[in-house]
Amino acid sequence: MKNTTLKKTSIAETILVVDDSQFRLESMKTTLNLPGWNVITADSGENVLTWLLTLPNISLIILHAQMQDKNRFELAKLIRQNYAIHVPILFISAVHSLDEYITRDFSVDISDYLIEPINKTILIQCIELYINFYHQRHQIKTINKQAIPKSFRCKHVTHRKKYSQNPATQGRGEGCKLSGELKDVSTFPVEIRLRPMCIGDQYFISILFRDLSSHKAYEDIISYQAMHDTLTGLPSRAVLYDRIHQGLIQAQKSSQQFAVIFIGIDRFKVICNSLGQGAGDQLIIAAANRIKSALGKTDTFVHYESDEFVLLASLTHINNISLLFDKLLKENKKTLIINEQELHISISIGVCIVNDDSCQPDELLKHANTTMNDVKSKGGGDFQFFSSELNQRIERRLALEMGMVFSLRNKEFVLYYQPKIDLKKNKIAGLEALVRWQHPEKGMIFPNEFISVAEETRFILPLGEWILRTASEQAIEWHRSGILNGRIAVNISGVQIASKEFMSTLKYQVEHKIIHPHLLELELTETSMLENPNKVGKFLGELKMMGFTLALDDFGTGYSGLSWLSELPCDTIKIDQSFVSKALLTEKHRIIINHSINMARQLGVNVVAEGVETRQEQDLLTSMGCELVQGYFYSKPLQAQKFEQVSNIINQRGNSFKSY
Ligand code: C2E
Ligand code: CA
Ligand code: CA
Repeated sequence: MKNTTLKKTSIAETILVVDDSQFRLESMKTTLNLPGWNVITADSGENVLTWLLTLPNISLIILHAQMQDKNRFELAKLIRQNYAIHVPILFISAVHSLDEYITRDFSVDISDYLIEPINKTILIQCIELYINFYHQRHQIKTINKQAIPKSFRCKHVTHRKKYSQNPATQGRGEGCKLSGELKDVSTFPVEIRLRPMCIGDQYFISILFRDLSSHKAYEDIISYQAMHDTLTGLPSRAVLYDRIHQGLIQAQKSSQQFAVIFIGIDRFKVICNSLGQGAGDQLIIAAANRIKSALGKTDTFVHYESDEFVLLASLTHINNISLLFDKLLKENKKTLIINEQELHISISIGVCIVNDDSCQPDELLKHANTTMNDVKSKGGGDFQFFSSELNQRIERRLALEMGMVFSLRNKEFVLYYQPKIDLKKNKIAGLEALVRWQHPEKGMIFPNEFISVAEETRFILPLGEWILRTASEQAIEWHRSGILNGRIAVNISGVQIASKEFMSTLKYQVEHKIIHPHLLELELTETSMLENPNKVGKFLGELKMMGFTLALDDFGTGYSGLSWLSELPCDTIKIDQSFVSKALLTEKHRIIINHSINMARQLGVNVVAEGVETRQEQDLLTSMGCELVQGYFYSKPLQAQKFEQVSNIINQRGNSFKSY
């Protein structure tokens, strides 16, 4: 027997057999005793009507023509017209009486005639065929009732069994198994389009099957990509937001805590710039794998963007969270080999613990992110929990950001000048311009607090331009009045170096004598140059061509070390305050300073020691051959007017410098 879809139905097909011979009824029941078929019998017209009234779902009626009942044609007519308009009726007759029945039955719409003796297989196939036909007819009826256009496409996804039970109601089947019709009976997704047709008084359904395997595979890729990050294979941000929402709902229901944790790779930009973008990607993947290996399977760990990851950890982890972080920090300190180079990295972790559902996901992520940035700004390689104190700092930062908008126009910035002393000549060798913000409400704000904000918002570009212009005007004035001989040094931010407009604006200002490069020195840090490795050589060359002198600021705190020095067109290095302040305490710092001074001298580069606060420090530096110094021991940064008052005194004090 054919393995048709019909046999797979879970609801039985009811077949009513009508015959007045109990023997024939019993033998028919035995023949049709098949899975999925429910055979009921009636031995009189009355019984037939009783069944039809009580069982509305009869799929097929078999009527024996040899019934003694002389009104069997009337019975068939009655069934067809009043009770089972579309139910197929099979007449079973003997050959000798066939003509009579056919003639008599034209008005009754008998579906088919089976001639005795009947072959069992043919009988069963015939029954299957008519039952299927019945369902299709029924479907056409439904479609017509709903007034759906002739071509339709249902969209919902169905189960194989459901599909088999009633194919016409299923537009698109997941894993439909279509045996018989298709040579390959493997499971695959199909789209089914049904088109009802009526030819004469015959109903047909054209069924179009479309193999959706490739379409489905494409859909799978798209949905995978939507849910995963292509670089690391970690879940995507969409998943993160969903999980935070779930966590918040859970927090509300069970007051269960969870933590939103931001993880970032320290100095990622600098590492990428020196090793290249491909190395950056490898680094992200390596860090992702390291972090992942330290986590539980249930934790949501997402690649957020660039070098940043977000981890959602549940309550159980919060108890052990410090242990987890120690593990993560340690794991990430291990040496990495990327592009055949050994790399030592560290990570920063910012944690925001969620106790209730009052926070929005964006807010939680922002808190965790700012906490992580705070860790980074303190040198990284650590973790920190979000706190209200930090929040206050952030609010202050935001207030600064807002306050910057009109600050320049309101003339709220002022330059202070700190002298650089030439110990050999006992004279002021130059000045460093240091900006301060005289905030109308908050009072004096120092650059360490607002420069980074100005860099982030790029406000440093107009501010930096104002600083250069003001320092230049001041230098001209003091040179004319003889107050100053040397140059005024101006600090230049990495954001300025990176900006396209900086150089063109500067060239314009130099050409139009708004800025006087031969009166200025530009101080650039090693870090800001490493942030712009591709353009820094050309950039510095152009500055030199214009007439500026260049100083490498905060020398010793960067990463490239002394090798840079020979490659950069620098006139001066400024040994960082952190070395000077420790020079008297540790041999190591003395060695570094000594080495730097010697090397700079050999290269013909000036050395300035920054942050000199005591005579002992000065004496030590002089003994090492450092001739240029700057620090509170000589003078704090001074306002222009104050400098004018004291410049003579500073110049005349010789070696007996005192702090101002
Ligand atoms: P910096 O360029 O290293 O400037 C030296 C800083 O050390 C100044 O702090 C100065 O006041 C301070 N200092 C000088 N002598 C001593 C000393 O003997 N002991 C101690 N403890 N500190 C001393 P300030 O003015 O607060 O500036 C801090 C940083 O802000 C500067 O570090 C510089 O990186 C940045 N900055 C200052 N002014 C500007 C500016 O106009 N533009 C840009 N882009 N950055 C600036
Ligand atoms: Ca400086
Ligand atoms: Ca410095």
